[in-house]
Amino acid sequence: MRIGIIGAGQLGQMLALAGHPLALQFRFLDSSGDAPGARVAPIVVGAFDDLSALRRLAGEVDLVTYEFENVPVAALHEMAAKRPCFPPVEALRVSQDRVLEKEMFGRLGIPTPPYRAVDSRTDLDAAVAALGFPCVLKTRRLGYDGRGQRVLKRRSDVGPAWEALGSVPLILEGFVRFEREVSIVGARSTRGETRAYPVVANMHREGILRVTVAPARAPRLQRAAEGYLRCVLDHFDYAGVLTIEFFVEGGRLVANEMAPRVHNSGHWTIEGAATSQFENHLRAILGLPLGDTRAVGHSAMVNYIGRMPDRARVLALAGAHHHDYGKAARAGRKLGHCTVVARTAAERDALLARLVRLVPR
Ligand code: AMP
Repeated sequence: MRIGIIGAGQLGQMLALAGHPLALQFRFLDSSGDAPGARVAPIVVGAFDDLSALRRLAGEVDLVTYEFENVPVAALHEMAAKRPCFPPVEALRVSQDRVLEKEMFGRLGIPTPPYRAVDSRTDLDAAVAALGFPCVLKTRRLGYDGRGQRVLKRRSDVGPAWEALGSVPLILEGFVRFEREVSIVGARSTRGETRAYPVVANMHREGILRVTVAPARAPRLQRAAEGYLRCVLDHFDYAGVLTIEFFVEGGRLVANEMAPRVHNSGHWTIEGAATSQFENHLRAILGLPLGDTRAVGHSAMVNYIGRMPDRARVLALAGAHHHDYGKAARAGRKLGHCTVVARTAAERDALLARLVRLVPR
């Protein structure tokens, strides 16, 4: 069985690595021939909307998936006409637009921050009047890792934010004074079997995920998060891994966004869960039984952003699992991560504190 993966970044690389023990073969499509995935499977080099490259990929594989949210929907439709393609194109389409995503959450009864679509300066002024300060102005599409967004604290922030972002459709969201941020990763197979991982706690800085603690100590949130996740999975007749990120505000979940793919906040599952999110994604799209999603201990994952730590010092930590994606260093770029796994939460917290001291900020 040959699987095509659109995008050859670290998520694609980890998917292919998870598929090797299942005797799966992979081909990537990526605009760069030396993306991280190149180390584990061949890359068809071409833009994500390059029809001849998409046709070549389709010709070389039995099934297609994607690891990247900004794949043009038209390209994926093209692909889906030739080969089975999961997760469903409709889930990707909705996830690419923050307004469509929030409308979908609302229809399914999943709470979101208050929001308004903003297509003009007049819309923005009306939205600010309705939501008040502070609020967050974001591009509806193509935002990630906090890019394409501004927090508006006072009236004098509105004009410059409009100047910076106003050339594309926007959304204004009420600022959520969250206690913490959490996410849930789960999978649904083509046969309709569904499993969810434990809810995890995520720490962001400058809009980029820095640390995930798994499981989050959140027994009351688990049931609600799982309920919301299943609702979205069933809504799309979904196959593959899906992630939903939430704010916790006043002890309740408020949905921020979803990702129709394996997710950075699920990297801990490689060593910290009975079955990794990557293997479960593959099982799900192949219609195989899903693997156990239970945590096997207490884990924490730290992203390496912009600079790598000293590998030997990380490896000297017992229980540390170092991942180097092989990317060139650049400010703000995710270059790798490390997961520590321990028997108890206290041991995990101690290991995490030691790991964090080794990771350049
Ligand atoms: P996003 O790209 O929407 O995931 O936003 C990146 C990060 O910005 C989130 O993880 C939050 O830490 C912060 N953020 C985004 N939207 C809001 C909001 N409406 N209220 C408060 N913080 C936010």
